[in-house]
Amino acid sequence: MKVFKTSQLLVKYLSKKTRPLGMVPTMGALHLGHLSLIKRALKENKSVLVSIFVNPTQFDNKNDLENYPININKDLIELRKVSEKIIVYIPKVDDVFGNITKSKPFELAGLDRVMEGKKRPGHFQGVTTVVFHFFKTFAPDFAYFGEKDFQQLLIIDHISRTLKLKTKIIGCPIIRENDGLAMSSRNSFLTSDQRKLASLLFECLQLAKSNAKKIPYSSLKTLISNFFEKNEGIALDYFIVANPKTLKEFDLGQPIDKGRSFVAATLGKIRLIDNLDIP
Ligand code: AMP
Repeated sequence: MKVFKTSQLLVKYLSKKTRPLGMVPTMGALHLGHLSLIKRALKENKSVLVSIFVNPTQFDNKNDLENYPININKDLIELRKVSEKIIVYIPKVDDVFGNITKSKPFELAGLDRVMEGKKRPGHFQGVTTVVFHFFKTFAPDFAYFGEKDFQQLLIIDHISRTLKLKTKIIGCPIIRENDGLAMSSRNSFLTSDQRKLASLLFECLQLAKSNAKKIPYSSLKTLISNFFEKNEGIALDYFIVANPKTLKEFDLGQPIDKGRSFVAATLGKIRLIDNLDIP
């Protein structure tokens, strides 16, 4: 398996590889969710590039950045088990930011003004700056992103379309634990009590799905906040049902027709997000 620390050498190497090239950007601490994206990319491309880069500019909270789990050796072992064909890019901050020419903020059609964008100022400009830089530098034909970060997937797809980039964005389904908890690098920080409570995120999304068409959206919101209030140790941050293309929130007075439900909750210092389709 080829591992690169600098984009210069990687670009040279990629120029000799057969296309299509699929790319999977990650922040490491790889789990089955990441691996599902990588396996799909391997099926659909001749060459696959996986980046492992904890992007400092997408963290609005210094503590969160300092505590983000990093285990490159374990990640490389996991990647090798999947395929020796994978090309890995593990840059230092300088290799990425030394090569980014500062441009004006991306136009994100308001997609960054709700939910995670509202809660984490600057987060999506941080994500898009680095992803755009990767797309420009490596010119992947396809890039794979998880629906776990649905808002991020939508924003990157928006950029790829509006800037007419060569890279097509492929959204991949959320991989879950047996009790429904969406896999996440942050789950490793949960205590065993918190881990049990964390399944409430998925439970609340299922509860919302089964009631969405029966009651007005305002009552659905009350139902979900009551659901969280019954449980100590977990606090609801937001529950929103929105249009899955525009992220515009539904009208409070009506039951939901078709949409996507989004939840964020904190357990101690750990903040988890999840989402589910309401067909
Ligand atoms: P991250 O390392 O958290 O930045 O995630 C890298 C990519 O993996 C992003 O596109 C995520 O949406 C995706 N991802 C993370 N967790 C999951 C999951 N449980 N299922 C599917 N994709 C995921």
